[in-house]
Amino acid sequence: MENSTPLLGAIADDYTGATDLANTLVSGGMKTNLIVGFGEDSRVYDHSEMQNVDAVIIALKTRSVSAADAIEQSLRALAWLKKLNCRHFFFKYCSTFDSTPAGNIGPVCDAMLDYLDEKMTVVAPAFPDNARTVYQGNLFVGESLLNESSMKNHPLTPMTDSNVLRLMRGQTTRDVALVSHEVVSRGVEVTSEKLDALEAQGVSYAVMDSINNDDAANVGLASSGRRLLTGSSSAALGLPKLYTREGLLPEANLASELPEVEGDSVVLSGSCSLATNQQVENWLKSRPGIKVDPLELSADFGGVIRRVLEWAKPRLSAQPVLIYATSSPEAVKESQAQLGVHEAGDLVERALAAIAIELRDAGVRKFIVAGGETSGFVVKSLQISALRVGPMIDPGVPWTASIDQPAIALALKSGNFGAPDFFEKALEMIK
Ligand code: ADP
Repeated sequence: MENSTPLLGAIADDYTGATDLANTLVSGGMKTNLIVGFGEDSRVYDHSEMQNVDAVIIALKTRSVSAADAIEQSLRALAWLKKLNCRHFFFKYCSTFDSTPAGNIGPVCDAMLDYLDEKMTVVAPAFPDNARTVYQGNLFVGESLLNESSMKNHPLTPMTDSNVLRLMRGQTTRDVALVSHEVVSRGVEVTSEKLDALEAQGVSYAVMDSINNDDAANVGLASSGRRLLTGSSSAALGLPKLYTREGLLPEANLASELPEVEGDSVVLSGSCSLATNQQVENWLKSRPGIKVDPLELSADFGGVIRRVLEWAKPRLSAQPVLIYATSSPEAVKESQAQLGVHEAGDLVERALAAIAIELRDAGVRKFIVAGGETSGFVVKSLQISALRVGPMIDPGVPWTASIDQPAIALALKSGNFGAPDFFEKALEMIK
């Protein structure tokens, strides 16, 4: 059975959060589309392209922007999703409740509740699989309270309070209350009754204790009567169960199946993270690769691109190649000292994006891209705006296929993700 309209419409406040939520839904058997770059260009997203999937996630980049900007972008996305007639809506934020001191999560939740004409929603940041748990309203990272974890020093969103109720009260004037572990652990019915009681008392935000995946799943199952859920990807764990139980989702849904993509493969790496350095090193032991250097780009941008393409194109039909700017921390410092941090990064991003376009035009249809920013640039330059989410390669990194034509398979890896043989493993999966 296919749903003609998605059951769930979600908004994530950053790209990796959106991917994380997509993985949870796909693992639960929900076919999921991911919209990237919503509102960044003039492309009009066509609702008809989002039919016959179970969930649509819009990846925004609102975590560190002002509350007014976050509301504006989130409501635009919500309005678009609402037209799809989704049963439930989901606002995905970080499991460490990352928000600016001015507070983004509360204002966006207020605006979404109002837009949907709903009175209450759950606030469920716990992500037990990643050791982020909530107990008595306090957020833990492993054994530490959030404000004693490394999150206290985060450059953009330092978290100096661990109490989700207090954090939320700092960001909204509406009533916030706790649904304690004692309630959540007693199951869906008890939790659901508690939520109803709180709503009757005028509470808008129910902060959910959750220390394991059973608790997290109860949150989704107990919220089935409300249209909006908010929290980490784990807060969505109960939704596939709910939809299956209601007969809206087949038991064995081949959710991670991607349309077949024919064409050559390439790995583009603009990440200099430790994990990527290891992955590049591992690749070069037995496979071909060519380096793109920011200093050389600065001297002769067009010449470097030509040289790389002349090297890569004849090899591609025989085997995948790696094109990389990945360097050691010392080498990165050196190029940054000579060119400036921004200029060095910009040259590499523009070069890899230009190379991606040329390779696509030459028949490459499978791109593995390393680096969060780099991925953003490559996706944008290939004019890809929506992806179908497929099977997981390593935790947090799925294969995806573009909904835009020509169909392109993409594995977008943030810097520190993936095992040393990530590139090889990814290619093996889509042979
Ligand atoms: P990650 O996910 O590992 O943080 P990103 O792609 O987000 O990777 O960021 C890496 C940044 O480093 C990009 O802006 C990229 O252009 C830049 N970069 C890549 N190689 C070099 C290099 N050799 N010297 C300086 N900057 C580089």
